[in-house]
Amino acid sequence: MQEQLFSVEFFPPKTAEGADKLRVVRQKLAALHPAYFSVTFGAGGSTQSGTRDTVLEIRAEGMQAAPHLSCIGRTREELRDLIIEYKSHGIKQLVALRGDLPSGFGAGGFSSGQFSYANELIEFIRAETGDWFHIEAAAYPEMHPQAKSPQDDLKNFVRKIKAGANSAITQYFYNTDAYFRFVDETRKLGVDVPIVAGIMPITNYTQLMRFSEMCGAEIPRWVKLKLASFGDDTESIRAFGLDVVAALCDQLLKGGAPGLHFYSLNQAAPTMAILQRLGLAQSN
Ligand code: FAD
Repeated sequence: MQEQLFSVEFFPPKTAEGADKLRVVRQKLAALHPAYFSVTFGAGGSTQSGTRDTVLEIRAEGMQAAPHLSCIGRTREELRDLIIEYKSHGIKQLVALRGDLPSGFGAGGFSSGQFSYANELIEFIRAETGDWFHIEAAAYPEMHPQAKSPQDDLKNFVRKIKAGANSAITQYFYNTDAYFRFVDETRKLGVDVPIVAGIMPITNYTQLMRFSEMCGAEIPRWVKLKLASFGDDTESIRAFGLDVVAALCDQLLKGGAPGLHFYSLNQAAPTMAILQRLGLAQSN
């Protein structure tokens, strides 16, 4: 992997203390020359201004920043205002998503005039701002949990690329076969954009199980059993997690993955340890 082919995702901190901590995390990771930092939007109860403030701070530090933007529950006007604001600050990259439906809403989406799916948001961004933004879409090698079938999900992924996405970032996974098969299938459907592998470092068993349950990522049985056997021995969990995830990244890169996107959970050490293990942590 050449320099700059990895990126790191943060969530907007909710407290001043969290913001201070994240500044230190960013400083450490920036020294390893990531392509960009991305900042989630509306996930886990975070606010819209939290995403914007964090992104502008990253820009002010001289790094490339990519805000995530999810359309569910937001009006066209709100979305237009936000993308115009990002454009005015020189932001050139967006991660365009549907987002998750708040409980109480069915799969049919919201009232008319709003968007139900990410392909509609991507079309809208293109219509409003032409080629200004490099747009990333989400991809699901193990299928999005609400999709009707893997084939249907694949078709829906292709819609996002046809709507104007320049590249994609996958949901995290621990089965490389799922990723390579997904990439092959998209290529057969005419998709030629880079599909960057989303990587979730393993540092906490309970948290990993909870996230994976929600997003549909499969934890291989042997990994689950091994992690469970460590109980609250955090050091062993981290050491084993590092072995597993560094080997995963190595296989992905050797197999041709165009890059890695780290779900950092606002921590520097797990991502840095993986990059060091891969020999990719030159900080000159
Ligand atoms: P879509 O591509 O719209 O797909 C959603 C579901 O609808 C899928 O099952 C798909 O098969 C189906 N579908 C899609 N298009 C159509 C169509 N036209 N007709 C019928 N069915 C269709 N969430 C946040 O809230 N904030 C974030 O910042 C955030 N960042 C993320 C970053 C990455 C890299 C990834 C992989 C996920 C992120 N998520 C985030 C989670 C994401 O919002 C959820 O997975 C959400 O449920 C789906 O978003 P999407 O953009 O993939 O949706």
